[in-house]
Amino acid sequence: MGVIIFWDRQAPEGIQLPVARIISQILDIPVDVRENPVMIRGFDRQRNQHNARAILDDMQDKYTRVNGMADSLLLVIPGDLYLPGGDFVFGLARQGINAAVVSTARLANGWYGREHRDDDIIDRVAKEGAHEIGHLIGLDHCDNPECIMFLPETLDDLDRKKKMLCPQCRKLLESFCGQEPVEP
Ligand SMILES: [Zn+2]
Ligand SMILES: [Zn+2]
Repeated sequence: MGVIIFWDRQAPEGIQLPVARIISQILDIPVDVRENPVMIRGFDRQRNQHNARAILDDMQDKYTRVNGMADSLLLVIPGDLYLPGGDFVFGLARQGINAAVVSTARLANGWYGREHRDDDIIDRVAKEGAHEIGHLIGLDHCDNPECIMFLPETLDDLDRKKKMLCPQCRKLLESFCGQEPVEP
């Protein structure tokens, strides 16, 4: 069991490998990056955003139904995401198809009028990606503001998180993955 990242052609270039490496470290799982083979639909012209649910519907129809879902899939796209009834989401996971989507739009300093730094967007995509894959593996949200599974509502929330699971979530992850917990 591992993770495959589908990196969209329009998403920021040159940061795929560091993002994959950090996610692999956070979750202790092999991560592979490929070019995204799935057409990105669900664009809402009026909102200038993509419906995250529609994108996962397509992942189901066009990819996991045909190719199976042995590996967790993480789709990384540049377009801003929303869910009906809300303003925006950083990402969305659907455990039933073992697939998730993350948008880089609000993870870039440029969105907030700040100067671009590769390290910032690498850390944020990795944190948000690891969070959504955590859901696919079976983790829920965590109250610890420094834990990857904390639900961030703002960029500051996301930046406050460390690139790791808290001890409780780590223990849960190990139990889901069928490994013996490592003694401290
Ligand atoms: Zn979440
Ligand atoms: Zn936690």
